[in-house]
Amino acid sequence: MSYIYINDEFVDESEGKVSYSDRGYNFGDGIYEYIRIYDGKVFTSKEHYERLFRSAKEIGLNLDAYSVEGLTEVTKELAAKNNVVNGGVYIQVTRGVAPRNHPFPDASTKPVFSAFSKSYDRPYDELENGVKAITVEDIRWLRCDIKSLNLLGNVLAKEKATQNDAAEAIMHRGETVTEGSSSNVYAIKDGKIYTHPANNLILNGITRRVIKELAEDLNIPFIEESFTLDFLNNADEVIISSTSIEVMPVVQVNDQKIGDGKVGQITKQLQNAFNNYIESKS
Ligand SMILES: *Cc1c(COP(=O)(O)O)cnc(C)c1O
Repeated sequence: MSYIYINDEFVDESEGKVSYSDRGYNFGDGIYEYIRIYDGKVFTSKEHYERLFRSAKEIGLNLDAYSVEGLTEVTKELAAKNNVVNGGVYIQVTRGVAPRNHPFPDASTKPVFSAFSKSYDRPYDELENGVKAITVEDIRWLRCDIKSLNLLGNVLAKEKATQNDAAEAIMHRGETVTEGSSSNVYAIKDGKIYTHPANNLILNGITRRVIKELAEDLNIPFIEESFTLDFLNNADEVIISSTSIEVMPVVQVNDQKIGDGKVGQITKQLQNAFNNYIESKS
């Protein structure tokens, strides 16, 4: 039996039904988070739920009935019920069920909350050997700072990566690199880490924030300035990061090797620091 959480209850996944009038289903009108479980413990849950509350606020979704602490408890309980030792919990909230009509529904409409968990190992092979990425034009809207259910731009980009045997699509607006379809992107040059500033054009990853903290501890300059495709291609090292892929080396972009095509030293330093950080939190 596998449990999911829906409408304030833990039920078997076969009982997890949503309405055809759910605004998440009709409009992608909702938000989500994905939280990691390491060794049976919930990782950076407070940061994720604070971001969920921020996303809710930015789209005018009322989450007053919920709290960071309450949601963290739900996450722990779901992972425990499903015996997740290493894996993750996905949580989404939609603006609720109402007849399809673009304006917000009546204020009494309850948000629909759902969550599922899954078990899997850390991506050890890829972390050690690196992955390939392609580049694609970033066609998304201008509020990429909101972790919204509207993911069509991201889905189309990732599909193109998959078609090209690449792990990720690195997106760019014109010449400016923004982020990956489901990750943040970093170019390392002459011992410094460059990444797009956390503004409306990217999602400010929790992993990105951890990497920033670790880089500062290691005295590696962490520069939040946008960079070009050309800079990316000529970087010494490239990294992508997210809750599921952690500090992931990119050793090839399109047909071009990055640096000598091997995982670089700064990447390895950050990976070590990230491993220690996970241990210190669990
Ligand atoms: C979730 C996400 C990330 C990574 O965020 P984490 O909090 O590190 O998992 C990066 N970019 C996009 C577009 C995302 O949706």
